[in-house]
Amino acid sequence: RVFNFSAGPAALPEKVLRQAADEMLDWHGAGCGVMEMSHRGQHFTGIIERAEADLRELLAVPDNYRVLFLQGGATQHFAQIPMNLLGGASADYVVTGGWSQKAFEMGSALAPHIGARVRLAATSAEDGFRDVPRAFDCDDAAAYLHLCTNETVHGVEFLDPAQLPDTPAPLVADMSSHILSRPMDVTRFGMIYAGAQKNIGPSGLVVVIVREDLLDRAWAGTPAVMSYRTMADNGSMLNTPATYSIYIAGLVFQWLLGEGGLAAIERRNIDKAQRLYAYIDASGFYRNEVEPAARSRMNVPFLLADTRLEGDFLAGAQAAGLAQLKGHKSVGGMRASIYNAMPVAGVDALIEYMREFARTRG
Ligand code: PLP
Repeated sequence: RVFNFSAGPAALPEKVLRQAADEMLDWHGAGCGVMEMSHRGQHFTGIIERAEADLRELLAVPDNYRVLFLQGGATQHFAQIPMNLLGGASADYVVTGGWSQKAFEMGSALAPHIGARVRLAATSAEDGFRDVPRAFDCDDAAAYLHLCTNETVHGVEFLDPAQLPDTPAPLVADMSSHILSRPMDVTRFGMIYAGAQKNIGPSGLVVVIVREDLLDRAWAGTPAVMSYRTMADNGSMLNTPATYSIYIAGLVFQWLLGEGGLAAIERRNIDKAQRLYAYIDASGFYRNEVEPAARSRMNVPFLLADTRLEGDFLAGAQAAGLAQLKGHKSVGGMRASIYNAMPVAGVDALIEYMREFARTRG
């Protein structure tokens, strides 16, 4: 297997993949695999309950928060959030990169249809999304303030809780690309959501952690299948959930617990990120333009001194077993996504390749 630096769908722990392969035809003596089981049967009920309990343990989710296993990708929730949480009020949005921009655009498009409004509380667009905003123009009466705590494309992360906006409005955070990379104080947020395909499991599944008291503000026109309240009341099973994805997510949660939980994973993630940024900064050939205090530990975009060498860089990396390093098409350059499943050895191998490329081609 290659060291896979894809931003998502991304590498999963080999132990998880091996266990899933072993259980593919016969899950624990059930005589069939998880993909073939009824979501309402006793086997799958046990799987989803265990997954929820393990996720609660990992993130220390308080009892007044509901955990939902939903579908549609994070993008669908850009629409579901205003439908469910906005009521007839106003919501604030912070834009720190491509994904929070998309969420803001969706909120802006939907709000008039549900008799509500959205405002831009801060954006770092003027400086090319190279930092988190240092000041916010928050509406104290906002129904929520939406932000993306790790921008996957631009590599910008709210690393310190002190960087978060100080507002009485509940924070609604898209954590798709850094959930479970470190301990998080769930109580700081009204709602956390994450597409699974980076640190959790297969694409399509979306994990939502939402404070109970926010569930009763939905716009009356919200379809039942998009209602967080209805999904919470039905154990995420108003309709058939993404059963196999939930099963894989559960294996990832067990893997994380076995690794020592999120504090242990955070230490490894800090180590990996520090190695890579330190090399980039010292290289004189590569550069990352994000403010050090907001540099993502999960997604490391970088540019070569000579952009004409990008094709050769990528081809050589692929040949060396270092895959999917091309940056997002909207920003170009390179990007190394180093999620939980990326071992330190993968980062070291990348640095070694970068060093050799710069020495011979720089
Ligand atoms: N939000 C963030 C931070 C992302 O990285 C992505 C991309 O994977 C999305 C939202 C969109 O996710 P999806 O394509 O699953 O809708």
